[in-house]
Amino acid sequence: MSVLRRTRPPSTESEIRDTSRETRGAERESRVANLGSWPSNDIQPTTYDVRRTRRAPANRRSAVIEEIRLLPLNLRMRQTFVTTLGRKDVSHNLLVAVRLSDGSTGYGEASESLAMPDQTQTAMLGALRRMTPRLVGQPARNLRALSAIAWQHESHYPTAIAALECALLDAVCRSRRIPMWRYFGGRQRSVNTSITISAWPPAQAARAARAAAHSGIRRLKIKVTGAIDDNLARVRAVHRAAPRALLVVDANQAFSASAAIAFAHALVHHRLPVRYLEQPVERHDWEGLAEVHRRSPLPIIVDESADDVQATQHLIRHRLADGINIKLAKTGLLHALEIMRLARRVGLQLMIGCMAESRVGLAASVHLACGSGAFDWVDLDSHWLVEPVPCHGGFASTGGRLRVHETAPGTGITLPTAVVAP
Ligand SMILES: [Mg+2]
Repeated sequence: MSVLRRTRPPSTESEIRDTSRETRGAERESRVANLGSWPSNDIQPTTYDVRRTRRAPANRRSAVIEEIRLLPLNLRMRQTFVTTLGRKDVSHNLLVAVRLSDGSTGYGEASESLAMPDQTQTAMLGALRRMTPRLVGQPARNLRALSAIAWQHESHYPTAIAALECALLDAVCRSRRIPMWRYFGGRQRSVNTSITISAWPPAQAARAARAAAHSGIRRLKIKVTGAIDDNLARVRAVHRAAPRALLVVDANQAFSASAAIAFAHALVHHRLPVRYLEQPVERHDWEGLAEVHRRSPLPIIVDESADDVQATQHLIRHRLADGINIKLAKTGLLHALEIMRLARRVGLQLMIGCMAESRVGLAASVHLACGSGAFDWVDLDSHWLVEPVPCHGGFASTGGRLRVHETAPGTGITLPTAVVAP
């Protein structure tokens, strides 16, 4: 097993930085180019897959899983990430590479998350190692059956299962030369994303908001904690710094019901352009959530509460929220698709979010957001929040717009051979 190495030392300067000094023209442009684009904003046409599939056996439908490789991926956060649930400077992730018998290789990534403390790198590595012997040699085309095997044996590790599902789907799409966004519906090739501003002091949050605005990002998600006055100061500072940006406020379960309602009223009172209040109360405080949903002047999006299909059915049955934040890492890929279906059937709003994946892991979510065209709010920003990994393709980012390649098979991500070699 090899460890993915960074291609450059960690930056000591944040990419989202103060623009109040004399930065104009060229510097502003370079900031746009720097935001999440390694090594450039252009999608690199993927020759890897073409080369592989040309050598592949004629009957790709019979491709079987030949190897599943697991690589620890320790990613430094560009700035300390702060939410109600804690702080982190490094995300200990796991890269999953699935190689099929026709040579096609797909990638997934399991990211640690403050909201899912059980999903540690070590635990996920153990779960995936235990799954591997059950999957190698199986036909790759039946993703549903393979996913069922994973859930049957390792149901405590949805993030690991999501990474496996994404890698399998990527490999099969590459084998059949289908771009993943086409697999998900082919609705559109680009989406606008928000970027997350941590629960930082107001001045720091304002600097990040100003830099994001200068980079062309028009949607901001602001983390808040239980301290209402501090939160209000942070949100107001962000709004002053980026007055044209639309906002979402994410409490990560910080509030009691009464505090959440009071905070929502305060946001409205100060005429702040907040579109949603996300996850105001503890994840399974159904009574509190019902009260907030009933009395909040802002629409309520749930994230941690919608942690599986059953919880989503409960939320829908009792009408506890206005929308759901879909995250592949939270529920697995196939369950996320089921949650999307359930939510759309009853007219709920949909957001898509992420953990702390690199561009490699984020690509599947970008393809889902584009291909399905299903999301009212896209929050796929983790490639800006962590140090870059040496990959190409997947999607391009310019300002807040993420764009997938039209024809590259799978996600289009390519990794240097040195990274994924034994
Ligand atoms: Mg959230």
